Amino acid sequence: MNVHEFQAKQLFGQFGIPVPRGKEITSPEAGAAWAAELNTPVFVVKAQIHAGGRGKAGGVKITKDKAAVPGLVKDLIGKTLITHQTGPKGREVRRLLIEEGAGIAKELYVSILVDRDSGWPVFIASTEGGMEIEEVAAKSPEKVLKEPIDPAVGYQGYNGRNLAYGLGLPALEPTIMGPFITVLGNLYRLFMEKNASLVEINPLVITQDKRLMALDGKVSIDDNALFKHPAIQAMRDLHEEQPLE
Ligand code: ADP
Ligand code: MG
Repeated sequence: MNVHEFQAKQLFGQFGIPVPRGKEITSPEAGAAWAAELNTPVFVVKAQIHAGGRGKAGGVKITKDKAAVPGLVKDLIGKTLITHQTGPKGREVRRLLIEEGAGIAKELYVSILVDRDSGWPVFIASTEGGMEIEEVAAKSPEKVLKEPIDPAVGYQGYNGRNLAYGLGLPALEPTIMGPFITVLGNLYRLFMEKNASLVEINPLVITQDKRLMALDGKVSIDDNALFKHPAIQAMRDLHEEQPLE
């Protein structure tokens, strides 16, 4: 089962992975109220559908004008968004996430999934955040790093350091090394404790004020383990699933 970005970010928050302040919104009135409460220099209004590529398809709107937020909500709600992951029919937008805008210095890619060959969890990371990882893998495979985790031992600091050095973080922003290694450990805990088959953060950004933040999130949970996680089961959105399946 997949969850929405705003739900993935709730899980990130529970596991100590920093995310922007944000809230799920379904009406212009609620958007106006939340924008007033959020009170940030930059507002980001994001279509919530179970598909990536929303940015390029017009599903992510950024504004500095608080008064413009309800209008953006009106534009996006009910719209059919066609991204390269939705198929030609697209997906109807029924829910939005409104969150604070981050000052981005660098976008990274990080995910963890089960490697079918070894059966081990494996981290995938790249300096080419914000792009589809499939595209990076096809064009410049040397930019896709992998770090398998022995599940009998669990995530160790050296796993994080391998990835951090592989990404060139010491040259990019040395102060981010510690937080990066911690965030990966938290990501591993989330992945294992929630029986996920995939957790992807694209982009994981380094902000201009040198903090790490997850600006997008994808979480897939193993259906066979859902009975153990009623809170995640409650996140199910049947509008995003094929009735035949
Ligand atoms: P998708 O992957 O579906 O296109 P993302 O959530 O990754 O959607 O958003 C697309 C891009 O929009 C990101 O790569 C990032 O550059 C920008 N973005 C998203 N959320 C924020 C935010 N809160 N602050 C600043 N920029 C953002
Ligand atoms: Mg993304």
